[in-house]
Amino acid sequence: MSATDPTSPASMHSGTGPALAERVPLVSVEGLRVHFTSKRGVVHAVDGVTLDIGDGETVALVGETGSGKSVTAKSLLRLIPRPPGVIAGGKALFRSKMPCPGCRGAGCVDCGQTGRVGEPCTACAGAGCGVCGQSGRSTVDLLTIPEDELRDIRGNRIAMIFQDPGKALNPALTIRAQIAEVFAEHRSDELVSEAGLDDESGRLLRRAVRNRGRFFERRLGSLPPLRSQRRRVDAVLDGRIVEALADTRIPNPVKIMRSYPHELSGGMKQRVMIAQALACDPDLLIADEPTTALDVTIQARILDLIGELQARRGTSVLYISHDLSLVRGIADRAAVMYAGMLAEVGPAEQIFADPLHPYTRGLLAAIPTPGMGRGRLAAIEGTVPELIDPPPACRFHTRCPHAATACARTDPPLAIRQPPDHRAACLLYDDAAEVGERPEDMPDRSAAS
Ligand code: SF4
Repeated sequence: MSATDPTSPASMHSGTGPALAERVPLVSVEGLRVHFTSKRGVVHAVDGVTLDIGDGETVALVGETGSGKSVTAKSLLRLIPRPPGVIAGGKALFRSKMPCPGCRGAGCVDCGQTGRVGEPCTACAGAGCGVCGQSGRSTVDLLTIPEDELRDIRGNRIAMIFQDPGKALNPALTIRAQIAEVFAEHRSDELVSEAGLDDESGRLLRRAVRNRGRFFERRLGSLPPLRSQRRRVDAVLDGRIVEALADTRIPNPVKIMRSYPHELSGGMKQRVMIAQALACDPDLLIADEPTTALDVTIQARILDLIGELQARRGTSVLYISHDLSLVRGIADRAAVMYAGMLAEVGPAEQIFADPLHPYTRGLLAAIPTPGMGRGRLAAIEGTVPELIDPPPACRFHTRCPHAATACARTDPPLAIRQPPDHRAACLLYDDAAEVGERPEDMPDRSAAS
């Protein structure tokens, strides 16, 4: 896809609205709080997470198991079980860049020359204002929009791939049926029009296709007047599915399409999941530890594949992992989570070269490196604290080698420590007066440098 291609992300950034849009993130999470009720009290699983994901950017969300990474990601699509989960506060603003169906991204009167559906912002007509956060794009809060609007976004504008493709794929359905569901849910209009059906047949078949294929397959599509139209839609659908599979460089996509999940290896299943996730060309791909269940050689290939597809399509990626060494080469920015809060966030290169938070330093020190001598690996002593009604304090203070009196009673702000945007939540970098502490109670900055 070239920059002159009207559907390319670059060309979508032409005009007033998109020029402004370049400066604002695709997703802005602000103060997200997610709680789970339990017999022992309220678990503050995610507590005030603020994070941006830019257009085409890869953000790695890293941390130990139980730090709240997956809950943060699932909350964006409201996929946490409710109850016991509850989204207790915050916003998740999403500025979609779906190509306008009228001009397919070229820019027309319908889309206000933006090339994107839903744009420009109704309040400012694309000029940028307080409603759209100066983006010019229409903006929705994923945490509060009605469920049917969110269903249009899930799998379409924001897609997710999971840790264990063996569990995520339905063992009773062919790969074709599972990818077809995505197209049926979000692209039924396109399928029917590509098959060249007349209005009346198209209306019936569109209804049937939207019915997730079941009614279509079993009843309506088998009626004699619609049988031939169904075959035409099926042929278009098959073409789309094979194309989606071939994009993941899976060998023999036609055969794979007709297979069941148990007939595929772990790497192939993950490619199928990626094909399914990227079928509708989403703006954001959430990859929740997508390579954890795979062996290392397949891991590397899957990472390469995600990177290649992302570069080609301009998709933003939120990559969740407990493995810092894995995300080192792929992330533009990294966000380190600890006990439901962000400990450090900033450009990935800067975080790996010069980590500021003692927790990040501990994680990086624990990564084995080639040429290391024999002996014990470095480890962060202690365990993650309970998140039931946590007190206002640094949540890392029971494990931190630099902890001081102030750390046990003051929650450090996630402030910029290295311009322009390398942030860390640690009192080592705060001024005692600014956080209301006595200098002698603060951690010793000289010992940490
Ligand atoms: Fe350690 Fe204190 Fe910084 Fe927390 S605030 S990470 S306990 S030095």
